[in-house]
Amino acid sequence: MWHKDETDEKNSKSCVTFMKESEKLIIKEVQQDTYYNEIDCLKQSKPLQKNSSLIALSPVLDSDGLLRVGGRLKNSDIESCEKMPVIIPGKSYIATLIVKHCHNAVQHMGRHFTEGAIRSRGIWLTGGKRLINSILHNCIKCRKLRGSAEQQKMADLPSDRLTPSPPFTYVGVDTFGPWSILTRRTRGGSANTKRWAIMFSCLVTRAIHIEVVEEMTSSSFINALRRFTALRGPVKEFRSDQGTNFIGAINELDITSFNVEDQPIKDYLQNNGTIWKFNPPHASNMSGAWERMIGLARKILNSMLCDIKGKQLTHEILCTLMAEVCCIVNNRPITVVSSDPESPHVLSPNVLLTHKTDNDTEYIPDLSLKDTYKAQWKQVQVLANQFWKRWKTEYLHNLQLRKKWEVESRNLCKDDIVLMIDDTLHRNQWLTGTIVEVYPSSDGLVRKALVRVIKNGEPTTYIRPISKLVYLFSD
Ligand SMILES: [Zn+2]
Repeated sequence: MWHKDETDEKNSKSCVTFMKESEKLIIKEVQQDTYYNEIDCLKQSKPLQKNSSLIALSPVLDSDGLLRVGGRLKNSDIESCEKMPVIIPGKSYIATLIVKHCHNAVQHMGRHFTEGAIRSRGIWLTGGKRLINSILHNCIKCRKLRGSAEQQKMADLPSDRLTPSPPFTYVGVDTFGPWSILTRRTRGGSANTKRWAIMFSCLVTRAIHIEVVEEMTSSSFINALRRFTALRGPVKEFRSDQGTNFIGAINELDITSFNVEDQPIKDYLQNNGTIWKFNPPHASNMSGAWERMIGLARKILNSMLCDIKGKQLTHEILCTLMAEVCCIVNNRPITVVSSDPESPHVLSPNVLLTHKTDNDTEYIPDLSLKDTYKAQWKQVQVLANQFWKRWKTEYLHNLQLRKKWEVESRNLCKDDIVLMIDDTLHRNQWLTGTIVEVYPSSDGLVRKALVRVIKNGEPTTYIRPISKLVYLFSD
């Protein structure tokens, strides 16, 4: 059993009184500092000076000599502190303490809740809104709960997307699938009934090429590369995401996978003088160019697969569908379609790939066979030149309008404390880490950082794009 004895009660009573008295004393002190003119006027029952910042509040002095908001309640005799809140200058340190206290009391809810809590305590902060905003903006717990990922002005586009080059010289690679297909049962056992697709997407002309593979193995992938380069010519540089389809992750789902760093693939690339570059992990915005293409292809394919319901999908049908998907995607305009009837045909990757356009009815005069070849070749040249000319003036211009992240933000710095976004975990499970190193781009802006966290009791470091980090505070 627990009971209070009388002296305890007396003590706590006098304690509360003591606290109340101290509070009054402090507020009086703060008010005197800022509003001595107004207090003087009120003491002498004189009207406030016209330029007083409190004039709109019609302040009054209460029996304790505290400055309170009068307003329309001035004449009523209700001594409720809530109706006549005590005035505290927002610039005082006390105001900061009050806001922080009330903000904690409402469990880090937003400005509205914090404001409400302050008012219901009978306090009127002058310039309160600004103060509350600034305190909430810098509140670490709020950042943890709701802070948004870091952003930095978009980097200049890599030069491989800005220089005219033959189609499929700079190529983004990704895989998608699988699809189950119908196979005839053979006596030697059944063939693999799954198919994947490898999408090669030209980073300059935005054309795509899809190869269907029977399994996700190095040898299947090399075969796809061979078919692709045989048709489209040698590739200078491949780019892909690290840690998505190419390495590891798929193993856990019990799907075979291949690794670009496998020796056979490495050898193949080396023999063909091709470089393979990885995007930093978890930076899907960096591979956005061809991820959008995959999204497009998937949409078109799904709509096609809808049409062949009933019949079953075979390898042959899948390959045909993929070819048609490529055609549709490559026929899409890469610039805004002009509504001007005088303006030339739409600029699509297929113009360059096939040198054929829909309204390609240019008359080739009756010529000898030799001349015909010459004329056709000329027409191809004209088309190619036209493509690159328009590509430079229309498409490139479009590309350089940075639609997102136009402003430079503060760079993340070494020793900054950040929250590491992990899409697979709930927000309150995200790890807090320290930035060990930042990697500024050539324009001096930081878009990638090395973060140290403690995971399962062990210090670990990760490289993360800033879009996967929430800044908390600087040490
Ligand atoms: Zn907070």
